Amino acid sequence: AKALGKNQYHFFSDDMNSSVQNHFELENRLRRAIVDNELELYYQPKIDIVTGDTVGFEALLRWHSVEHGDISPSIFIPIAEKSGLIVSIGEWVIDKACEQAKQWLDSGFPAHISVNLSARQFLHTGKPNKLFELIEASLDRYQLPAEYLEVEITENLMMHHLNESFAILEKLKNIGVKIFIDDFGTGYSSLSYIKKFPIHALKIDKSFIDDLVNDENDAAIVTAIIAMAKQLKLEVVVEGVETEEQLAFFKDNDYEVVLQGYYFCAPLPANEIRYIYE
Ligand code: C2E
Ligand code: CA
Ligand code: CA
Ligand code: CA
Repeated sequence: AKALGKNQYHFFSDDMNSSVQNHFELENRLRRAIVDNELELYYQPKIDIVTGDTVGFEALLRWHSVEHGDISPSIFIPIAEKSGLIVSIGEWVIDKACEQAKQWLDSGFPAHISVNLSARQFLHTGKPNKLFELIEASLDRYQLPAEYLEVEITENLMMHHLNESFAILEKLKNIGVKIFIDDFGTGYSSLSYIKKFPIHALKIDKSFIDDLVNDENDAAIVTAIIAMAKQLKLEVVVEGVETEEQLAFFKDNDYEVVLQGYYFCAPLPANEIRYIYE
């Protein structure tokens, strides 16, 4: 920055300051969001294309900030990850999801709920198994059978935090928690990892679905992922299905996948989900 002219430096610097300030403002608010009761989990159904049944729900975090209004996860999740707040927020998410699954189960609505996990949650310094222990503790607390909890992780987590994450995922699998690879196709996983890790399903990223109907390359990639998953005995979940035409692509090709997207249902608060399924 020193090499720039003085005015330019100031311009750049002011710009930075406001975004940095905004970042810290949000971080400070987020730090209080749990105790201030501003966080909520929304749930989005996952539908089996063959049976039409809802086979589970993805829990998606919402932040209703009293100060700033509703803030998108694409803004606050990165802040939570950078600051480390994701560790406590993630713990809250796991606990809330277990509580919800148990409440639904007890009211005659057995529903599998998946939670998104960030890399930071696997890297809790000094206590590599903290994540496993707190998942177990939440299952215990609500007496929830482990099969009702599922986790979604990204490919990059597998690649970059190999030893830490592998041990935890193995333990989760062993108690019956299923593992989904999120945003599949956008990260850096090699196929050998997919075989090695105790994975239950691949979630094909929405970016391959958006233009699926018009773009032959996207269609080819989606088809290839489904064929590969079948050989590896992995389930496939398709993210971001918004149109009838996208649905038809999977139906017409007899692809036995699980679908998720606005075409079926947006993420909704727990009581609205319960209302729909009553
Ligand atoms: P993701 O895990 O890939 O979640 C899917 C995102 O796509 C969600 O955005 C969902 O609302 C949205 N979506 C679902 N169906 C459709 C569709 O048909 N069309 C479109 N355009 N979007 C659709 P959301 O809820 O804003 O979450 C964004 C990201 O924030 C998530 O991406 C996930 O990476 C992260 N996130 C959300 N909740 C949590 C959480 O509890 N913990 C962590 N670590 N990350 C979370
Ligand atoms: Ca996800
Ligand atoms: Ca995803
Ligand atoms: Ca995504």
